[in-house]
Amino acid sequence: MAHDYELLMIPGPTNLPEEVREALARPQISHRVSAFKGLVGRISEGLQALFMTSQPVLTLTSSSTGAMEAAIVNLLSPGDSVVCVDTGKFGNRLGKIAQIYGAEVHNLVVERGRSVSEAELGEACAILRPRAVLMVQNETSTGACQDVAALAEIARSYGALSVVDAVSSLGGYPLQMDAWGLDAVISGSQKTLMLPPGLGFVAFSERAWAAAAESKMPKFYFDLAKARASLEKGGETPYTPNTSLFVALEVVLDLIWQEGLEQRWERHHRLALATRAAVQALGLSLFAAPDALSDTITSVTSPVPSGELTKRIRERHGIIIAGGQDELKDKIFRIGHLGTCQLEQVVQTVQATATELIEMGHSCDPAAGVKAAQEAF
Ligand code: PLP
Repeated sequence: MAHDYELLMIPGPTNLPEEVREALARPQISHRVSAFKGLVGRISEGLQALFMTSQPVLTLTSSSTGAMEAAIVNLLSPGDSVVCVDTGKFGNRLGKIAQIYGAEVHNLVVERGRSVSEAELGEACAILRPRAVLMVQNETSTGACQDVAALAEIARSYGALSVVDAVSSLGGYPLQMDAWGLDAVISGSQKTLMLPPGLGFVAFSERAWAAAAESKMPKFYFDLAKARASLEKGGETPYTPNTSLFVALEVVLDLIWQEGLEQRWERHHRLALATRAAVQALGLSLFAAPDALSDTITSVTSPVPSGELTKRIRERHGIIIAGGQDELKDKIFRIGHLGTCQLEQVVQTVQATATELIEMGHSCDPAAGVKAAQEAF
């Protein structure tokens, strides 16, 4: 069946609100006029409220990986010892970036689906005395989240900077950069923030800016001191930004304040409860550990090859869910319930998943799944 519109239930990119699509269709504007500079100033203030920080939040025209790279090359120097909390594809990526730029990276490999324990991180820091600890708040590849407030405190107690990837969590999960003492927070546009891909965000604590002044890793496009100076000069960016996404970002920030940030966290949590209850009512098991269940992505151990399952759901129902990545390929599937998502979309996804699971030989009751979702929500 051909579908002219597909429902995105993947962990990003996510479905766009009507207001964002309208903003993206507006005529192009120059990035060197005062109207645009005013917009950059307003966006910057909105992002500070979202990150819960008094520090500047820099908006980069790059995907989130660019923001990860920017954080690392601005904080570190070749030869620095770094602990990478390797929870999956994205935790591992932070370590890979640091290694390519010459850091001495020690991967603390965490069983997939789990978060690192405070004791494990404390032990690694005591032995390695790292300059920084790299971690992901919500490991998209496994659907496991971590208590980054507690982990950052451990890093700090050993004199290490905390670098937190909040790419698939910021705006859907509580994150309080200043109150939790996080030194670098990274995010991106295409997940809970309901924009297309193409913007990365980075904020540094005061301690991190002091470290940045000493950093010797090479950088040009991602030189954050330059980006900060341009921003503070009056809403400028050093290079041509993606103006359309900046315009749409202001719309998104308005939508977030209209809903309320805490209400938004609450909605994501209830959607997660609904999705978890539904898949369990279909006789399936959650992949992530009970103490690490994500509020934006539910990962499920698949009773059938998940590549075939996701293909059927897409082709027959016009709904896209994600399979597993790397070593989890075909073993799990992941339902993203973030951004604009409402209960109705979770219900549609549960129905489609149950229908295709039955076709593939896993017996289950679609109505039980839907009922469980509605009750848990
Ligand atoms: N970090 C996390 C947790 C992610 O989920 C992703 C993308 O899925 C990234 C980083 C990389 O983002 P991008 O593909 O925008 O570079």
